[in-house]
Amino acid sequence: ANNDKKPHAAILTSPGMGHLIPEVELGKSLLTQHAFDVTIFLITTDLATARSQIHQQTSHLETAPNVVELPQPDVSSKLGPDPSLYDRIIVTMTESLPSLRSFILSMKHPPSLLVVDLFGTEAIPMARDLGMQPFVFLTTSAWFSALTIHLSAMDPNQVENTHVKNRGPLPIPGCEPIQFEDTLEALLDPLGPIYEGYSKVSKVINGSDGILINTWQDLEPSATKALGDSGILRRFTNGPVYPVGPLVRTLADRDTGSVHVDNKVMQWLDRQPTESVIYVSFGSGGTMSEAQIRELAWGLELSMQRFVWVVRPPIEGDASGAYFDVGIGGDGSPEYLPKGFVERTKELGLVIPMWAPQVEILGHAATGGFVTHCGWNSVLEAIFGGVAMVAWPLYSEQKMNAAMLSKELGVAVRARGEAEGGGVVGRDEIARVVRRVMAEEEGGAMRAKVNELKASAEKAVCEFGSSYESLRQFRTYSRAASEAKARGA
Ligand code: UDP
Repeated sequence: ANNDKKPHAAILTSPGMGHLIPEVELGKSLLTQHAFDVTIFLITTDLATARSQIHQQTSHLETAPNVVELPQPDVSSKLGPDPSLYDRIIVTMTESLPSLRSFILSMKHPPSLLVVDLFGTEAIPMARDLGMQPFVFLTTSAWFSALTIHLSAMDPNQVENTHVKNRGPLPIPGCEPIQFEDTLEALLDPLGPIYEGYSKVSKVINGSDGILINTWQDLEPSATKALGDSGILRRFTNGPVYPVGPLVRTLADRDTGSVHVDNKVMQWLDRQPTESVIYVSFGSGGTMSEAQIRELAWGLELSMQRFVWVVRPPIEGDASGAYFDVGIGGDGSPEYLPKGFVERTKELGLVIPMWAPQVEILGHAATGGFVTHCGWNSVLEAIFGGVAMVAWPLYSEQKMNAAMLSKELGVAVRARGEAEGGGVVGRDEIARVVRRVMAEEEGGAMRAKVNELKASAEKAVCEFGSSYESLRQFRTYSRAASEAKARGA
């Protein structure tokens, strides 16, 4: 018989650091706080980076989650000539399913439940087939999750008429509507294949046994209420919805001394005054055109504020160009920056090629602001770092996140330009928003609000907090369900 009916959770990752990082955090939380056995099934297109990331997040633990590296499938023959980011991810996931299945079948103590993310939903029927309970972990906001859950119930013709043609807001029951200027690319052609695919994913997610979301009640009271057990959206999902966040890396990992930190940037930050530095980074995949990088450089210089800027080589016309290959350890000579920029700003700023220790930088006392693409992990880390934000969304649901941060939570100013036809955000606009966050009173007010959110985040994840309780209920539910199944109920 199995050891004391301890639930065994398998977590299926998907390519991209923005998914891997919170999925590992979920695994840690289930393992260390909620007495689960945890196996992480790693699907990645950049094994070396993923390995080192998992090592950084787990090596200090007494017991680490079990990690199974699934073989990287050859997807080249399955993709068209110019595949979208989404297609590449989905095909990679689909092609990995056979090896996942055979691995699980070979396990002595197979998992009792499988947690997939937005991109792993094709594994759900397989999980059921193998007698595992399928769950979905949405590594984003409750608001976006609500949209995703509601999508398959929406009439695409109506979305086409009201939202796309007339540019009216898209209603989500119990939640803020989505303004057209903040909408997703996937919603722009409701009668096309991308929307149809999203709608199918929505159905599959709703049919899972439950949904975990990387947010917490007090951050998003209306959306979490709408998704909760007596909420208006609950009838769309088969199982309960659990706000379990924020699950993020914290400085505690560093304190154990297991995490390698780039000392140059930390030492530089040590020499700067409190809350005087703005950190500029567009996530693990964000890239910009050369023209935009130049404007950003000029904007930072004109703002006359201290900065740490993570730069990537320009890619024209693809805002997610580095999603698969973050390329840590670039050559460090960014020639695409304006002539003399590094020299002129050497007293004021630091340019870091490719990848930075973001959690450490945001958590440093000298950092007071963050120019961010509003990826959800970055948003959560910014809250823990107590920094005010310049919201500069690039792709995916980032405009929704930007709207929430600037309009609802009052912790960000939005860099304008990007919404008006995908144009370049100009240097004067950049200097203006950076100064608003760093040099003007409203920046201080925003930081005060962020610190309130930080306190509420800490409360949610500590013992008996709302997210801690959600995970406890998730455990009871999964266990109760598996026991019911064992009894043949
Ligand atoms: N990240 C980092 N250093 C970098 C860029 C990104 O540590 O130079 C981390 C960041 O802290 C976050 C994740 O990568 O945890 C990116 O996730 P997010 O949701 O912000 O954006 P995505 O990359 O998925 O667009």
